Amino acid sequence: MTTAAECYVCGRTYALAERKRCDCGEPLWLDPVAARFDWPECEDHSMWRFADLLPIAAPVGVGSAAGGTPLVRTERLDDVAGCQLYVKDEGENPTGSFKDRGSAVGVAYAASRSRGRVGTVSHGNMAMSMAAHAAGHALDCTVLVPEDISADRLRTIAQYDPEILKVVGDYGQLYYDALDAGPEAGVEFVNSDTPLRVAGQKTVALEILESFAPDIPDAIAMPTSSGGLASATWRAFHDLRDAGLLDDVPKLLLVQSAACDPIVQAWRENREEVTRVERGETIAYSIANADPPSGTRALAAVRDTGGAATSVTDEEIQEAKRLLASRAGLCVEASSAVPLAGLRRLADNGHVDRTDRVAMVATGTGFKERVGALSVDVETVELADVPSRLQRST
Ligand SMILES: *Cc1c(COP(=O)(O)O)cnc(C)c1O
Ligand SMILES: [Zn+2]
Repeated sequence: MTTAAECYVCGRTYALAERKRCDCGEPLWLDPVAARFDWPECEDHSMWRFADLLPIAAPVGVGSAAGGTPLVRTERLDDVAGCQLYVKDEGENPTGSFKDRGSAVGVAYAASRSRGRVGTVSHGNMAMSMAAHAAGHALDCTVLVPEDISADRLRTIAQYDPEILKVVGDYGQLYYDALDAGPEAGVEFVNSDTPLRVAGQKTVALEILESFAPDIPDAIAMPTSSGGLASATWRAFHDLRDAGLLDDVPKLLLVQSAACDPIVQAWRENREEVTRVERGETIAYSIANADPPSGTRALAAVRDTGGAATSVTDEEIQEAKRLLASRAGLCVEASSAVPLAGLRRLADNGHVDRTDRVAMVATGTGFKERVGALSVDVETVELADVPSRLQRST
């Protein structure tokens, strides 16, 4: 276990308690001693089977239930994806998204350091997840949401009873201001790409790679917003390489909504840095970060793994969401259907081959999401007529 936070660009290290970002401006991550790590033999099938690579031991309560999600082979989607598709179903986490892995680590760490309060800047899955894990530890939690948050989302977060503050002003800037104010206020902020969150979220990739070991999948595809999950996946590759368990790495395939795709734009234009874009409207609201704090790191991860980045329209996202349900039985939120739509495009452009085995991260459940203006045509039948009607069904 380590708590030294390191910069992936310049290698500078800091005490985790003090800093979340490097003097050079880039985000830090934890660099555990992984040389002696091997695939665990333990009975624990939650994310905590990888405790040797995490900065904190397994907590009790809801945090202990994070991770250990199924990897589902979805043959009926191979035609759509243009490859042999496996879906990592992160909707099965305690609050329905992979954010629980990062929250579990961040909150357990804060509790172990006798911090009285944790916080986050989010109006979606991360807010809900942080509030839930704080409740499990009897820690206070402050959630900073934008002023225009919908009543629906507010209710979903509020059920876990955090302190919620609506913030008027630049929500992108708030990410940085919260990190700056945290230490003095005694609040451990676990934002989208902070070192503790990235440490927890790397277990998604560790689980996928353990499932394929000693082979590897050809690629791992995921939606990306802040770049936190993409960074975490890259970190998992580093850990396993350090442990001697990974010679080749899978390609990292990142997919964004065309309405808000700063990372994809930088990749297409062959730039070194991801810069802020104008955000358009998209149904993929969980991945609409126009100024991603780990965008440049995610871009570096794509390059380092020989991967690719692409963006997709709301229509393609809607269709991918529909197909995940109707052909694989998986109800995911719109943002989580994004990589399937992206794989379709990447297959058309030759980045993915029919024989490739690709694991796509279905980041969150669709059960929290209203299914839009879908009208369903349903026939009505008298009880006595059911048997004869069923005969006509075949
Ligand atoms: C947070 C989130 C993402 C994006 O993850 P980043 O780490 O911000 O890139 C994707 N899908 C869902 C469902 C999310 O909640
Ligand atoms: Zn640096």
